[in-house]
Amino acid sequence: PVPGDLDGHTVELDRAHVFHSWSAQAALSPMVVAGGLGCRVWNHAGREWLDFSSQLVNVNIGHQHPRIVAAIQEQAALLTTISPPTANLARGEAARRIVDLAPDGFTKVFFTNGGADANENAIRMARQFTGRDKVVSTYRSYHGNTGAAVVATGDWRRVPNEYARGHVHVFGPYLYRSEFWATTPEEESERALRHLTRVVESEGPASVAAILLETVPGTAGVLMPPPGYLEGVRALADKHGIMLILDEVMAGFGRTGQWFAFDAYDVVPDLITFAKGVNSGYVPVGGVVISDPIAAHFDDIVFPGGLTYSGHPLAMASIVASIDAMADEGIVDNAARIGRDVLGPGLAELAEKHDLVGEARGAGVFWALELVSDPESREPVAPAVVGRAKALLLERGLLPFVADNRIHVVPPCVVTDDEAGTALAIYDDALTLLTKELS
Ligand code: PLP
Repeated sequence: PVPGDLDGHTVELDRAHVFHSWSAQAALSPMVVAGGLGCRVWNHAGREWLDFSSQLVNVNIGHQHPRIVAAIQEQAALLTTISPPTANLARGEAARRIVDLAPDGFTKVFFTNGGADANENAIRMARQFTGRDKVVSTYRSYHGNTGAAVVATGDWRRVPNEYARGHVHVFGPYLYRSEFWATTPEEESERALRHLTRVVESEGPASVAAILLETVPGTAGVLMPPPGYLEGVRALADKHGIMLILDEVMAGFGRTGQWFAFDAYDVVPDLITFAKGVNSGYVPVGGVVISDPIAAHFDDIVFPGGLTYSGHPLAMASIVASIDAMADEGIVDNAARIGRDVLGPGLAELAEKHDLVGEARGAGVFWALELVSDPESREPVAPAVVGRAKALLLERGLLPFVADNRIHVVPPCVVTDDEAGTALAIYDDALTLLTKELS
């Protein structure tokens, strides 16, 4: 029998049987999403929200893009699964499209199930290639929920999971909350580089296999690298024969208004990890784009890694369709334009108008609003205030992404001017109300 209240039934089933990520289970009350299209999602009762979260910031092409849905359906009718040692047309086409977007000197892709194992395998490749052990990453980072990736992660999720060895952490640049008493982006860049250099020197550069960075740390707060930082990291890595791994899992495939976020900087990594936006998560997938010297290292030496679903045909077909649709429909350019002309100025206006907003920063469709209780001291608001902001936004028909004291403004790259305008008005309204409630 079909229950009358499908939303209620969905929550009941969920609470009875589904164990959720990163949560104490007892108090959970998950939102029901039954369907979606473009930048909108809805529940079974037909209540609709503007999705300014892109879920876990991966639905870059929007919900239910017809070309990707059709490509998955066609591939499913042809061949739903095949083992990695075979050659498969969709897999080759997907890999070729990805390396075509990468800088010169990248010709091979290793496909994984998602972003964590992309980082896991990039770390493994760097260790195998250099014969070294240590991996340096930042405290303000998230790299995924597997052995090495979660220990490379900087945020709280690392601490209960520290079972991998050889990981060292540094502070990256974050001018708004500088660890280096810096007051300009140039100072922040220079001092963060000096700190990284001293840590690498003190760890013994010849023991460091890789420096692993999110090009733009995402969940940690959309921390745009200041001028010269990534270039300086590259120079430091070159000096000591250290591999530079750029994690493009969240920042890549259009999010910043570039195909790869590092395209905006004068830096080329040795390994690029990707997932999320490569196919907007329509089928779980991730991977490592491998520079030629590292790929060549494994021409005659066995690469000690593999996955049953590496290069899964449904994921591969969805990547091909997604990259083609993004290119044909100018979706990356749209993200850049919306960021430059609509979200950038609109969010700056909100920061100007509301004392609650300490800073608005970002690019493309990758923005964060820092909510502070005092703009002078920059004291982050309490978790309950962010919870209230989320509730006010949901009531007004906007599905937000919140982390710590921040609202991340992260719609799909296909967001229209109208949708961005509607969202800005909703943020404004919610912030006005929240300010009143707090005074
Ligand atoms: N790297 C970054 C930058 C991420 O944001 C995430 C997920 O949020 C991951 C890696 C892990 O990806 P996945 O959850 O697909 O394993």
